[in-house]
Amino acid sequence: MAHKSSLRTPRDAPEFRRRLLRWFRRHGRDLPWRRTRDPYRVLVSEFMLQQTQVARVEGYYARFLERYPDIHALAHAPPAAVRESWAGLGYYRRAANLHRLAREVVRDRDGTLPSEPKELRTLPGVGPYTAGAVASFAFERRTAAVDTNVARVIRRAFHPRLPARGAERRLWDTASAIVPRAGRPAWTFNQAIMELGALVCTARVARCGECPVRPACATGRRVR
Ligand code: SF4
Repeated sequence: MAHKSSLRTPRDAPEFRRRLLRWFRRHGRDLPWRRTRDPYRVLVSEFMLQQTQVARVEGYYARFLERYPDIHALAHAPPAAVRESWAGLGYYRRAANLHRLAREVVRDRDGTLPSEPKELRTLPGVGPYTAGAVASFAFERRTAAVDTNVARVIRRAFHPRLPARGAERRLWDTASAIVPRAGRPAWTFNQAIMELGALVCTARVARCGECPVRPACATGRRVR
């Protein structure tokens, strides 16, 4: 991940941030995992959202948490039961990793999830994105969290000439440079940029005509 000294803040970043946050306050969806800062709940949502759409995850998320209300309950569950609770969501590897993670955290850390992205990354099934997301969404750490939605928005807004693949490092650097300096606004910013990628600047179509950040976006400014 980026070192502070190597980060260059794009000129349009302040306006981009301002517009994005204003839009999110009015249009951001009220999702269950946005109402909590409980690290375990945030973690479960992030594992579920890794390859599954929001609308589908919502129901599973509530049922899963009813069955395993905290990390201890999950750690002590038999693997077959966890797998069964995941049935229908697919990609069972995620469930197996989440279960392993819960056991490890209960065994080695007394059930307390770490708040540092670097430490989070040492846990089963946690890559750079999930580590950033949990650090930001549960602990309000000032860190970037770049998933495919965020990568697409950053690329279109600030690096329209970068290829869609193989530019991760650059996109993380830019995301790290534009994320607000304090934890609470960073939480909102990370949620907001993800939301923009999910609702407006989507993989299928960039709806520049109705996009709130258009004046601060390199791609949007070129669209008539
Ligand atoms: S203006 Fe267009 S390309 Fe830029 S962020 Fe908005 S939808 Fe995406």
